[in-house]
Amino acid sequence: MTADEKTSLAEFLDAAAAVTGSGYRSAREYHFSDDVVNSSSETAADADAPDSLEKVAAAVRSCTACKLAATRKNAVPGEGVLNPLVMVIGEGPGADEDATGRPFVGRAGQLLDKMLAAIGLSRESNCFIANVIKCRPPANRDPQPDETAACASFLERQIQIIKPRCILCAGRIAAHTLLNTTEPIGRLRGKFIDFQAGDITIPFLATYHPSALLRNEDLKRPAWEDLKLLRGAIEETAH
Ligand code: SF4
Repeated sequence: MTADEKTSLAEFLDAAAAVTGSGYRSAREYHFSDDVVNSSSETAADADAPDSLEKVAAAVRSCTACKLAATRKNAVPGEGVLNPLVMVIGEGPGADEDATGRPFVGRAGQLLDKMLAAIGLSRESNCFIANVIKCRPPANRDPQPDETAACASFLERQIQIIKPRCILCAGRIAAHTLLNTTEPIGRLRGKFIDFQAGDITIPFLATYHPSALLRNEDLKRPAWEDLKLLRGAIEETAH
């Protein structure tokens, strides 16, 4: 039934009610079986509501924008707190993350948790942990440019929503993706740069990926230097 037809019918019913004395009801009070006013206005209100981590997570879990959707078990949106001291951004989910839908939960993730704990940080209280790509590339291959491009808006939204005080970028792939460079990670790490995310500028520190530290003991010392730098920056920005 069209809106005009509904209005005409409501006016007719009003007139009939007046004639039969059965009581007056405003035309606005008639409801038709195909009325979708309430649900459509809720949808519009929802669309107008501020963006949220929950909205991003739901969109990630149902996303099929790149070919990784076909091979993932679980998408991995990320987890942690709003307004974190640090947002850790890694490359992408591995087998453990794909199996659980949670970021950094395998051996490398456990090392990351220990590294963060060493400078008073944790995903439960003051960090947010995410990846540049939300679904696992098969056999842990590097994400491909079309995949990182398709996935970029999710991370951008997360940064805008949580507004981290600092970003710790874990590993070459994440650093290359976020900084649009091919500089070796050994030259990118060890110093803060300003990272522009929309209208906010965030101190950004690249370091080695925890899985690289598991493979190469020699990287642990420079990674520890990076963590100390990060701790210093957090304390500085607190004043
Ligand atoms: S990797 Fe990103 S863009 Fe590709 S399907 Fe997963 S969520 Fe979507």
